[in-house]
Amino acid sequence: MMMANKKHILLIFVILVIAVGAISIASAYTGTGFTHNIPTSKYHDLSANDILSKFKDTDCHVEESAICTQVVDGDTIYLDNGKKVRFVGVNTPERGVEGYITSKNFVQKLCLNKKIGLDIDDSKHNDKYGRTLAVVIVDGKNLNEMLLKEGLAEVMYIPPSEFYPYNWADSSTHIPNSYNTLANTNKDTSSNLGSYIGNSNSGKFHESTCKWGQKTAEHNRVYFSNRNAAISQGYQPCKVCNP
Ligand SMILES: [Zn+2]
Repeated sequence: MMMANKKHILLIFVILVIAVGAISIASAYTGTGFTHNIPTSKYHDLSANDILSKFKDTDCHVEESAICTQVVDGDTIYLDNGKKVRFVGVNTPERGVEGYITSKNFVQKLCLNKKIGLDIDDSKHNDKYGRTLAVVIVDGKNLNEMLLKEGLAEVMYIPPSEFYPYNWADSSTHIPNSYNTLANTNKDTSSNLGSYIGNSNSGKFHESTCKWGQKTAEHNRVYFSNRNAAISQGYQPCKVCNP
């Protein structure tokens, strides 16, 4: 009897270790193989101010400021306060693949040796490598959002997060996998965008035929082509349509 209990406990422990490991791998800010073919020459003749002037001021708040001392790549920088910052919600090409230099140069032009602001993710301050997860703010502009709108980064949404990067995306943005947002299209609910409608505000998702799904405000809509995509993004099924 005693032995059976011990085995049972050991088994539960092993399952827990595997589950925690799987979750941490699934939610890591790591490379995805994302590339783009925007040439470095696109930004050669533009000053930082030329680029910044194309974008609107952000609603994000500067919680702390520091000087950027090194740009590792398009989504990772070092600050003079010792912090290593991973831009939250986005992913740029890794070293050695197409697009890496353009994305890195873009961030260098806007950040290097300059005072930048951070809006740190209140839902998750650090990734598993100890990097601070934050929106990087340059002259009142959200640099994470700029990278997406320029096509220099793809969306990398890892809940829990204070920020919802699909709201920063536009037609130049690479949206990974099996889902689309209305930020990308302008359109109508019943077309072939996806079989399920998510509400980024409530965190619920619906059958596309559900009246509650169809009442979702356009700016909160996220489309999923399958149920697993919604679940893996942290959405919960509607209790009415039970998708
Ligand atoms: Zn529903």
